[in-house]
Amino acid sequence: MTQGNATVPLAVAVVGSGPSGFYAAASLLDQNDVPVRVDMYERLATPWGLVRSGVAPDHPKIKAVSGVYAAIAAHENFRFFGNVDIGKDVTREELTERYDAVLYAVGAQTDRRLGIPGEDLPGSESAVDFVGWYNGHPDYAHLNFDLSGERGVVIGAGNVALDVARILCSPHERLARTDIADHALEALRHCALKEVMVVGRRGAAQAAFTTAELKELPEYTESGVDIDPAEVAEQPGEEALSRLVKRNLTVMRDYAHNPLPAGARRVALRFQRTPLEIRGDGRVEEIVFGLNALKTDEDGWVSAVDTGERETVATSLVLRAVGYKGRSIPGLPFDDRRGVIPNVNGRVDGVEREYVAGWIKRGPTGIIGTNKKCASETVGRLLADIADGSVRRHDRTAATDPIAEIDTWLRGRQPHLVTEAGWRLIDAAERSSGEPAGRPRVKLVLTEELLDVALERRIA
Ligand code: NAP
Repeated sequence: MTQGNATVPLAVAVVGSGPSGFYAAASLLDQNDVPVRVDMYERLATPWGLVRSGVAPDHPKIKAVSGVYAAIAAHENFRFFGNVDIGKDVTREELTERYDAVLYAVGAQTDRRLGIPGEDLPGSESAVDFVGWYNGHPDYAHLNFDLSGERGVVIGAGNVALDVARILCSPHERLARTDIADHALEALRHCALKEVMVVGRRGAAQAAFTTAELKELPEYTESGVDIDPAEVAEQPGEEALSRLVKRNLTVMRDYAHNPLPAGARRVALRFQRTPLEIRGDGRVEEIVFGLNALKTDEDGWVSAVDTGERETVATSLVLRAVGYKGRSIPGLPFDDRRGVIPNVNGRVDGVEREYVAGWIKRGPTGIIGTNKKCASETVGRLLADIADGSVRRHDRTAATDPIAEIDTWLRGRQPHLVTEAGWRLIDAAERSSGEPAGRPRVKLVLTEELLDVALERRIA
């Protein structure tokens, strides 16, 4: 079987510029078996996906991984094409016609819903939207969150729930040192919330928090954490719990037994409560919870069982943080329940030449580093498929290589193409406007503003 012209490097398009996209690019560029060129496509004008628009602004150490992505982007065989919407500006088929392989690393772009009455009342919002808003993602910049009430409720016991609760409870001076979007900084300055309740449907031992995120709450919010000691009381059989859960319980018990400072805005952690209904006259006024008992099955899985008891909590803001969900890509198979593209080790089921990595491959779990192994598994599959001929390389020579013409082709489709050079202009502009205030950057949030800088459209 022909393997194409050996003088022409393997051409791979990576769609999506978040962690899994960059780790896939690095895996492709760092191996020595076959020369590869990587073109990375991104719908937004800016790269880095959730590192820019998901990781909380007060977590600069986590965001520092962007330095690794900048180094990958500096590779001579790497190109960035931002502001290109696959499916709109160019089609999937046009990519597979030009590239030997196309790897989708598009993440999980929407959120899971609760499916309860009142969920669409104003004041009941998605944490995914709230995170996009405070991080200056252009799709969410126009949103408004009513922060004028005394209590907010966050549904879910994961790290996203802790992120949003912490940001809501952080003193202004702390946030003002971060790269939080200016519109969010201003809105949060006037936040009247006195308490943000984070509510899990199962017990404290089943919460999906990581210990570092639990531990930092008092320091970051400059307040105590409110926990009912009964909800974290010692249970028989705890020695069998994982080290992570044991550490989490130790931290939570510590909070439960420490007196709360008076007056400060605080995070309250509550467990064994399932949201049943959100009520209000034209906007959120209260939320009804069903109180749960816990039941362990023979495999050790702990589930929540409704006791029939109800609790009503007054609130003006409900943020659901019950997980992200992937979106389908027209023409590719999709598992709607899990929100993933079905695949075997990253090769999309039933199609040739198309691969997936990251959250769209395995679901919205794990930390940023988890995507490294995930992307490298996909790249291993891709290169093995090319090597054994199960995916045929396009038959081309240097003279007929359409990859050389990609730039011109793309500009025909999207005149406002943002290349790596354009992104560097944005990056430099944001960093220099952050400098006087001691902030890592001041984000540009509107696509038009980003394009003005990237394309040097306005000379000051
Ligand atoms: P997550 O870790 O999967 O947590 C989702 C939470 O929502 C769980 O407590 C889950 O409870 C609950 N839930 C799901 N459906 C529910 C429903 N219908 N009603 C009530 N509760 C429901 O998801 P995430 O917080 O979105 O985080 C996504 C990933 O990003 C995670 O791997 C997380 O660790 C990571 N992340 C990391 C950081 C960090 O490292 N600082 C920050 C943010 C996110 P059950 O367990 O009962 O299903």
